[in-house]
Amino acid sequence: MRLIENEESAAEALADLFAGARNAVVFTGAGISTESGIPDFRSPGGVWSRMEPIYFEDFVRSEERRLEDWRRRFDMLARFRAATPNRAHLAIARLMETGKVSTVITQNIDDLHVRAGCPRDRVVELHGNGTRAACLDCEAPRPLDGLEEEIARSGRAPRCMACGGLVKMCIVSFGQAMPEAEMARAEAATLAADVFVVAGSSLVVYPAAGFPLLARRNGARLAIANREATDQDSVAELVLRGALGPIFGPLAHV
Ligand code: NAD
Ligand code: ZN
Repeated sequence: MRLIENEESAAEALADLFAGARNAVVFTGAGISTESGIPDFRSPGGVWSRMEPIYFEDFVRSEERRLEDWRRRFDMLARFRAATPNRAHLAIARLMETGKVSTVITQNIDDLHVRAGCPRDRVVELHGNGTRAACLDCEAPRPLDGLEEEIARSGRAPRCMACGGLVKMCIVSFGQAMPEAEMARAEAATLAADVFVVAGSSLVVYPAAGFPLLARRNGARLAIANREATDQDSVAELVLRGALGPIFGPLAHV
């Protein structure tokens, strides 16, 4: 393992790694969006850490929990919409455009990779997307326009117009199964990668955090860029310690 703590040197090492890649995959976590103003899981006082989570089975069982979930989701949505992609998101979109990066696997639900220019079909959202809602039964999408006002007016959580099922934001709640298709796509992309770069994840949330390990076992070169240490640093070839904007930013101009 080679540890680089100087951001400029880290940026150079990352550029070299991508230069030698045929098929790179970037795996991102909440840390890539903090420079866009979206707090990560650990930030003290962040919306994510302050509240106890609403488990999927409670959402399904309780109208009161559903209403609380919708309140939180609309707060988050406002935050996501107010944010703009930062240098790191833009650099990854650029690497995709040049053909270096085939796939982004993300744990984020903020949609910022797509807004940075990554084609939607090349972004695997392991934990869903917090800017869309759909029926839990028939999967019919539910437009969000006017929905917050409708919930406030009726005092009821929305139901599917097609089948009457429960409507929920398209995110994976605690206690909810991981999306099978996304897991399969992430696995296929990981197994095809010769270079696998982690950006801004504490690598503690499984099964998502299993992908860098799978890449490594499969022979890919593994790099971890994060501003604090992770449990997987010891198995990585390259550990880049610092802020992602300065480390990824220069790659936007390749
Ligand atoms: P995490 O909060 O556990 O870890 C984020 C890591 O990024 C931390 O180790 C932190 O030190 C690092 N970091 C923060 N800002 C950084 C920066 N500017 N430069 C470099 N490193 C930085 O996040 P996780 O690993 O993604 O897991 C948390 C879970 O919470 C995920 O499952 C995710 O779905 C969810 N989440 C999503 C969002 C989002 O969509 N933006 C935000 C918060 C949490
Ligand atoms: Zn339905």
